[in-house]
Amino acid sequence: MFSEQDWEAAPRLGNAYAALPERFFERLSAKPVASPKCVVLNEKLASELGLDVTFLKSSAGTAMLAGNAFPENIEPLASAYAGHQFGEFVQELGDGRALLVGDVLDRDGRRREIQLKGSGPTKFSRAGDGRAALGPVLREYVFSEAFAGLGLPTTRALGVIAHDGPVRRETDLRGAVLARVASSHVRIGTFEYFAARRDVEALELLASHVFEHLQPDLPLSRRSGLALLEAVIARQAELTARWMLVGFVHGAMNTDNVTISGETIDFGPCAFMDEYRSDAVFSSIDSGGRYAYGNQPRITLWNLARFAGALLPLIHPTREDAIKLAEEALARFPYHYERVFYSGFRAKLGLAEREEGDIRLITDLLSLMEQTSSDFTLTLRSLSDQLERPGQSHADGFEDWCARWRERLGREDVDASELRDRMLKSNPKFIPRSHLVEVAIRAAVERDDFLPFTRLVEVVSNPYEDQPGQEIYAAPPLEEERVRQTFCGT
Ligand code: AMP
Ligand code: MG
Repeated sequence: MFSEQDWEAAPRLGNAYAALPERFFERLSAKPVASPKCVVLNEKLASELGLDVTFLKSSAGTAMLAGNAFPENIEPLASAYAGHQFGEFVQELGDGRALLVGDVLDRDGRRREIQLKGSGPTKFSRAGDGRAALGPVLREYVFSEAFAGLGLPTTRALGVIAHDGPVRRETDLRGAVLARVASSHVRIGTFEYFAARRDVEALELLASHVFEHLQPDLPLSRRSGLALLEAVIARQAELTARWMLVGFVHGAMNTDNVTISGETIDFGPCAFMDEYRSDAVFSSIDSGGRYAYGNQPRITLWNLARFAGALLPLIHPTREDAIKLAEEALARFPYHYERVFYSGFRAKLGLAEREEGDIRLITDLLSLMEQTSSDFTLTLRSLSDQLERPGQSHADGFEDWCARWRERLGREDVDASELRDRMLKSNPKFIPRSHLVEVAIRAAVERDDFLPFTRLVEVVSNPYEDQPGQEIYAAPPLEEERVRQTFCGT
């Protein structure tokens, strides 16, 4: 269908994962979709990855991103993994609707993988159709790019290819493939898959692959099972702390959705909260609130304990010693978490120094926000206005707190404009609020109008800038606009 010429500017992809033994994945060829159309392309990310934008926009490029056709030498595969879903272990999950196409070195010399999500059935599909609907794909896109704008570790969205599906859910929906980018798609569940099969050789190969991929400069002598566990504990503690700092609820923190790289993955039933609530839950299937906002640090630690369990054979030859070392490493989780959380929150309050009373100041503000149902994002963003117009407080009860905060600020060695700057860089104005996401997706899905979507992506990609004229994107929902539940869309 395509000539050699059509592929001339196609990316030269490697695929380090394909060099692992066959039991790590299923090799697959394309499962074509009807009438693929590139509806969103992330040109900035494409050039960051050194990909040719003109090629990506060509029909061969669209075919590639749809998983319809690949240039020669590409070895797409669906990877095997297991996972704890809502606390229950499932021995075999795997890429049931995704294909790892390959990897590239980006402009910074970092290895990045390209994966197609919604690319068709694999041997891991179980009862699923291997497809994705356009709505959830756009959702994942806007959240990924908002995260990137916020500076949080995340998988990225390279482009969306819509097709004529149809994808059967409750009704027939328009289908899409999301081209997604991650530094690695290996998850805790990938390690659990081999641990459950007592395949220690595979665990070793996987650990080596991960080190080679994510920390190629780390000397071989420092690549131990314990070092891997410690690195993932630190990355996941930081990631969770940073979710908490922006009021994000992931909603599906199953171990198959927890990356070894520390990047956020699988933006399904997630949401940023509007008003602050420590028990905020949005996922339609999380009826027990397992993955509620305030539970996230605990759940991450629980997930890391599953990771430690899978890694035991690589930590020490004697099981007892391995457990002891793993427990010691896990015991440092609160240290990593709190370090990132409190230094991040201090920055939000404009504080660079550390004082003992700061933690109290922070927790008191959170309690106040909860009592007064204050908007998390706007309360923090508007604190910098308090610097110039003290007394113009947001809600009852804030006066006393503001007085304490101002007194504390008095002990910072910084001038007012620098302080304001510091705070504005730590408190985003724009987040992808559920009601805005919904409106933008509806326009695309129902009217084929992608303008509201691309506008929203643009605004939330620059969350710390004031962007005069875009206030509507900063506002919390009106009561009738409020979105109470989000869905994984599978
Ligand atoms: P997720 O909830 O998206 O993280 O997916 C959990 C598991 O279900 C993974 O193994 C997915 O590959 C699989 N899965 C989700 N949706 C589908 C689908 N439409 N078809 C096949 N497999 C799916
Ligand atoms: Mg997943």
